[in-house]
Amino acid sequence: MKKHNFYAGPSILPQFTIDNTAKAVRDFAGTGLSVMEISHRSKEFVAVMSQATELFKELLHIPAGYSVIFVGGGASTQFAMVPFNLLNKKAAYLNTGAWSKKAIKEAKLFGEVEVVGSSEDKLFSYIPKGYTIPADADYFHITTNNTIYGTEIRKDIDSPVPLVADMSSDIFSRPLDVSKYALIYGGAQKNLAPAGVTFAIVKDEILGKVDRPIPTMLNYKTHIEKESMFNTPPCLPVYAALQTLIWLKDNGGIEAMEKKNIEKATILYDEIDRNKLFKGTVEIEDRSLMNICFIMNEEYKELEAEFYEFATSRGMIGIKGHRSVGGFRASTYNALPKESVQALVDVMQEFEKNKA
Ligand SMILES: *Cc1c(COP(=O)(O)O)cnc(C)c1O
Repeated sequence: MKKHNFYAGPSILPQFTIDNTAKAVRDFAGTGLSVMEISHRSKEFVAVMSQATELFKELLHIPAGYSVIFVGGGASTQFAMVPFNLLNKKAAYLNTGAWSKKAIKEAKLFGEVEVVGSSEDKLFSYIPKGYTIPADADYFHITTNNTIYGTEIRKDIDSPVPLVADMSSDIFSRPLDVSKYALIYGGAQKNLAPAGVTFAIVKDEILGKVDRPIPTMLNYKTHIEKESMFNTPPCLPVYAALQTLIWLKDNGGIEAMEKKNIEKATILYDEIDRNKLFKGTVEIEDRSLMNICFIMNEEYKELEAEFYEFATSRGMIGIKGHRSVGGFRASTYNALPKESVQALVDVMQEFEKNKA
């Protein structure tokens, strides 16, 4: 039976990425060696790193004055690396979920943190609005897509201070105006590559403004100056990331991805709103295109486990909601085909026919 992969992360990758990476594990670029056993200083791997960096910039239309780096440590290390490199006195944060809270916790180790808005009062089911970004903050931090709760900031906001964004789960899902951001980072395992590589897009001029000494590996400058080759990079995940970037380019780039992502999300949200058994969990205007959360309606609550079993038996994999929200979450990253969304909708309709 066909499996439809709705996992939130690690998550579905293009078949192109998986096939090419599998080939390179056996024979990388005709070297007769595996990409897992070749020196990162070999000319073949150096070419992979520079192509990945260039293609990353090209696809996101990243302007001059920005660097792209690939490092280890996950987005969770970035939570500390951002304030380590940028926070002198005070930073502003928007609290939109579990990942924001973790970022805030790390920033507090380095200075004052002003939380300018929070949706924690309603289990992060909306994006706070009407907040004021203090003009004396060193930067303002947002999480553009809240993977666990299914809300998303889909507009590039204006900020009077340098804007920093965790885009772990929506990078490459829509075109971006990178010039509005000072720093964008994310773990690659949601929409780009297998786990192990973290990307950062850094506006060069924001660096070098804090007084504290920064450990070499946690200093953005180290990785920028050495073009992500200061130490051994996660070679295999970087190779896979390059394949996804090539796939993105071959499939119309990010503009085409956004169109497809809107189509997929519309199909599923329409069904959630129509189906008698289910309802969405977040404010409609803040709904994520990447992580679609839904629960059973009150009167059908006791059917939750049964629907999960039913859907899983039909090949729907990874639709359990995060333990803090319950219900269901279907992640609809770039590589997920429209057919998978349609298959889930069919299962929801069939279950409704049986039960309602
Ligand atoms: C998954 C995720 C993280 C954590 O990423 P790691 O690479 O596991 O550290 C942080 N932020 C967001 C928005 C995420 O979805």
